Amino acid sequence: MVQQVVVIGAGVYGAAVASELARRGAGVTVVDSGAPAGGTSGATFSWTNSNGKEPRPYHDLSVAAMEAHRKLAAAAGGDWYHETGNLEWAADEAELEQLRRKVDSVTGYGYGARWLTRGEALRLEPDIDPDGLPADGIAYFPDEGWIEPARMIGYLLAASGAERVWNDAVTQIDVSGDRVRAVRLASGRELPADAVVNCAGPEAADIAALAGLALPMRNTRGVLIYTSPVAVAVGRVIHAPHVHLRPDGAGRLLLHTHEVDGAAHVSDSGEMSVDPAAVDEVVTAGRALYPGLHAASVESVRVGVRPIPGDGLPVLGRAARLPNFHFAVSHSGATLSVHVGALVAAEVLGEDHSAELAAFRFERF
Ligand SMILES: Cc1cc2nc3c(=O)[nH]c(=O)nc-3n(C[C@H](O)[C@H](O)[C@H](O)COP(=O)(O)OP(=O)(O)OC[C@H]3O[C@@H](n4cnc5c(N)ncnc54)[C@H](O)[C@@H]3O)c2cc1C
Repeated sequence: MVQQVVVIGAGVYGAAVASELARRGAGVTVVDSGAPAGGTSGATFSWTNSNGKEPRPYHDLSVAAMEAHRKLAAAAGGDWYHETGNLEWAADEAELEQLRRKVDSVTGYGYGARWLTRGEALRLEPDIDPDGLPADGIAYFPDEGWIEPARMIGYLLAASGAERVWNDAVTQIDVSGDRVRAVRLASGRELPADAVVNCAGPEAADIAALAGLALPMRNTRGVLIYTSPVAVAVGRVIHAPHVHLRPDGAGRLLLHTHEVDGAAHVSDSGEMSVDPAAVDEVVTAGRALYPGLHAASVESVRVGVRPIPGDGLPVLGRAARLPNFHFAVSHSGATLSVHVGALVAAEVLGEDHSAELAAFRFERF
């Protein structure tokens, strides 16, 4: 019987898994080599969506995850969840064709999406420069939004009542036969475990290797630009050509685009930096779209590492070869975490969720 579970990592996944395990009566220890929300979950665009998530099981998982956020936020008074909607438009005819295909595909799945004209989009986002919008062909996804991961993680960990161990890395996992027995930490502490959940985000392959499992990952870096508070009405998630943006609380905005991913560098000592010209480029695109952004300055620039399993899809649930070692690892974890946390925790405690987890098993590699 599973009584004591060690959850490795205190990002969105670790917090969601721990909270659900505790709700179901298990004893839980959450271990992080740093501080909670100090990994990718603290440097993410955190847009909640199933916008072009393929194949179908990934779309369905994401839609269920959006519903799980809605329910958790309603039950907990969780004002970290913002279901604002998302606007997206294309730079040219080729991109518009791709956007059309995506809208057709998701509406075919019954997902909320519709086309807006420039006037309709401006009624939603009146501070956009009208010249920055096409006359029509603006896709609107009303059920999407964004979360504040640090606040959600804080709530979930506190609600779990789990033992929390910070600034102490997992350095060894004791396995005998086909079972994990204990987790050892850099401090020398040993944590006996009936089950272990790998929620180590970009470092998930290292944790899997400690248990003798090879998890292929192809992590990428992304640049996130946080502005000073500014009196500009950005109410939604915006995916414009050359800049994506959303509110970030207290009047701040978060700017991002994949176009400058390559501007993030890591030194030999692990320091992350970003080419200032790339930051200027994104801010300039933001100001062209929302002229009021001229009054904002850049308050901070962060580099986040996307935890991307080898084939791009989540890796979830137990390892067949080591049935008390479990995974909760993916990109899009801001969207998926609450729902996936519940599925993975239920499986740890013996419930059968094979149908929902089948497409995401470790064994596909
Ligand atoms: C630029 C960018 C944009 C993104 N945009 C979106 C988006 O719009 N929507 C979306 O849904 N997702 C998005 N994501 C992805 C999403 O943020 C991640 O999938 C999610 O945050 C991963 O959470 P996690 O809990 O798995 O990892 P993390 O938050 O990284 O947590 C893992 C934790 O494990 C700890 N750890 C690692 N090794 C050890 C060890 N040996 N011992 C103990 N602890 C250890 C780390 O310290 C860390 O705190 C984005 C990511 C990036 C980088």
